[in-house]
Amino acid sequence: MDNVIGTSGRRIAYFSMEIGLKNEMPTYSGGLGILAGDTIRASADLGLPLIGVTLLNKKGYFMQKLDDEGRQTEHQHEWAPSDYMQLLPYEVKVRIQGRDVRIRAWIYEHHSLTKEKVPVIFLDTDIEENAPVDRQITYSLYGGDSKYRLKQEMVLGIGGVRMLNSLGCSISKYHMNEGHSSLLAIELLRQNNMNELYVKEHCVFTTHTPIESGHDVFPYEIVFELMGDYVDSETLKKYGGEHELNMTLLGLNLSHYINGVAKRHREISEKMFPGYKFNSITNGVHSYTWVCQHFRELYDKYLRGWANEPELLVRVRSIPDNEIWDAHQLAKKELLDYVNSKCGTNMDPDTLTIGFARRITEYKRPTFIFSDLKRLRKVNEAGKIQLIFAGKAHPRDIQGKQFIERIFQYKEELKGEIEIAYLENYGIDLAMKIVSGVDIWLNNPKKPLEASGTSGMKAAHNGVVNFSVLDGWWLEGCVEGVTGYAIGPMPHVEKSPEEIEMMELDDLYNKLEYIMIPKYYCRKDEWIGLMNNSIEMIAYYFNSHRMMHRYVTEAYL
Ligand SMILES: *Cc1c(COP(=O)(O)O)cnc(C)c1O
Repeated sequence: MDNVIGTSGRRIAYFSMEIGLKNEMPTYSGGLGILAGDTIRASADLGLPLIGVTLLNKKGYFMQKLDDEGRQTEHQHEWAPSDYMQLLPYEVKVRIQGRDVRIRAWIYEHHSLTKEKVPVIFLDTDIEENAPVDRQITYSLYGGDSKYRLKQEMVLGIGGVRMLNSLGCSISKYHMNEGHSSLLAIELLRQNNMNELYVKEHCVFTTHTPIESGHDVFPYEIVFELMGDYVDSETLKKYGGEHELNMTLLGLNLSHYINGVAKRHREISEKMFPGYKFNSITNGVHSYTWVCQHFRELYDKYLRGWANEPELLVRVRSIPDNEIWDAHQLAKKELLDYVNSKCGTNMDPDTLTIGFARRITEYKRPTFIFSDLKRLRKVNEAGKIQLIFAGKAHPRDIQGKQFIERIFQYKEELKGEIEIAYLENYGIDLAMKIVSGVDIWLNNPKKPLEASGTSGMKAAHNGVVNFSVLDGWWLEGCVEGVTGYAIGPMPHVEKSPEEIEMMELDDLYNKLEYIMIPKYYCRKDEWIGLMNNSIEMIAYYFNSHRMMHRYVTEAYL
């Protein structure tokens, strides 16, 4: 018998605090949400019986406004869920802070080109019968204090499981994409006579965070204030930690399969959580979504079927070099026209263009390239460069906001020498434009803080050359001088952080000046070789079809 989500079979429930499905739906903030969106998209292509569960985020993340000095202000991102999804006639309750909070659900259907669809459930507490504070629980992504966050996580984890039950979904596996949804495991314990083995067998946990402070942790005082007698403290402490509730521990302790999102990230995770055996499934991006129109047309012409079988990108050499170059120049022209119209710059399509766009936060080191202006000027004398930046800083990340202001200051300082642009409102559509329209994709996070990173994979899908610190996925993707270039040493070298930074800066400036600029300006055929290699050796592998094949065979089956 078919139920409301259109199938009687068993499904994998994929829980994520953020899921990025459409540019117009502000239900994501960065890489985690985009990965969740790519998971949904790849699952639909592959016909996987998956169902997504997330929060509505009715007031969105935020719209970013930057003034002339790069000062960020945040504005509400208005959107109407009813434009994209349907309200379901089901309600569940979760008791929070002594009140029964009612939760309803919207359903969004992602349709793949191959005609399969994957539903995503958006949980919503903005119901008249709820107290005003409770109505706000599903308003804003990563907004509010830690009580607000825990309330959201109760709605997501506990409410999510209850909603799936009431929809009549039969679930074969619960996949927690990061610790925000770990309370689902406690709900499953409660529903199954506290049978730990049963719960473990049904749960999969993926961590994305290689820093201690990145893991969600709540003082038990708050936990019991909000949860009341939902679960006894002994149980919670047994799985979630003695002194405070650690959502990662909870997920780790109640899942039969746990993984990091790159090989290196697995190593880091095993050091951070001694005694746990992690797997690693390196992230991928949804190829069709992240290939720009000009390259889609090329791939359609020469590599039929590539979208549903991205391995075919390994045959990129069947595309003539001049067509690769022309497609790239078209994408570049589109980006530069957009940049020039938005920022009043004078970017030139024949100038080597470097892109840097992602969430703006300290560990990503957004101003790294400006560390030594003398050397940057010297690079620019060897061959002209221009720089394009984008990214939002979290509203409470003061330091992040200062990075944006500093980029604006460097822009002033280098006026007349190096064209620099900063685009507002980095999101899915803008990411598509930038990752396909620049020549070099720059990535210089502080090691080892990038669990995987995915934007470089998107760039490679469009023949854009990666230039990145050896962290996360790039440790697996980089073949020096073939698929791109490394900034700084391999992770295990015994050096102080200062020495490592010096080595990174040396690579950054020297490789630009002595290797990349000469290739780009004087040996275009070699440059196009790098572009080909990016597609042949990166895109064919670092895609979400491969990633989901692995989740299915290792974690779901
Ligand atoms: C891909 C993507 C990210 C992730 O970028 P990283 O450089 O891997 O951190 C963040 N935001 C948007 C909008 C993206 O498309």
